[in-house]
Amino acid sequence: MEHRIACHDCDLLHEVRPLPPGSVALCSRCGSVLYRHKRNPLDRTLALALTGMILFILANSFPFLAIKSAGLTRATTLISGIAELHRQEMNLVALLVLATTLVVPLLELCALLYIFLPMKVGRTSRHMAMAWRCLSKVRAWSMMEVFMLAILVALVKLSGMATIVPGVSVYAFAALIFVLAAASNSIDPQLIWDNLEKSWRR
Ligand SMILES: [Zn+2]
Repeated sequence: MEHRIACHDCDLLHEVRPLPPGSVALCSRCGSVLYRHKRNPLDRTLALALTGMILFILANSFPFLAIKSAGLTRATTLISGIAELHRQEMNLVALLVLATTLVVPLLELCALLYIFLPMKVGRTSRHMAMAWRCLSKVRAWSMMEVFMLAILVALVKLSGMATIVPGVSVYAFAALIFVLAAASNSIDPQLIWDNLEKSWRR
């Protein structure tokens, strides 16, 4: 069957043709990117999503920071940090930290696994279209790197007053930022469209 794609920018229709590995198809009128050939997009996205899930679990099971001051050591995890913010009545900040460090990355990872795990075994998830829309919406709220930057600034400022020891969680969290970015970059939207079409025809 002939496959057509409309340019995202100028709506010109193009015929979809197989591309050589690693190349990009451009719109013949405005030059914007129509689609790319990605190497093993399914396996790569899935591997990155699984790695991300492991990092997410690590980031939430180990101490984020330990503060040593006057012979006392206090370790906090991400969750206990959020609880502490809530206790100090900084509810808006607590909510923001909860959303950027826990809810958004978890939703993103779950949506990725929900879409791509069944695809790997030749099935299509029941609510794939919804999960895909959710993934695009949630990604706009992904601000983990902003949170990480805020932590770094706080660390530099605090380092004069107490000894700060970053925990396993900090490293897992930093790695998760890169893994999630790579996962979202490795997605081939064409895979989604093809699977949706297949499920509609059934
Ligand atoms: Zn165009």
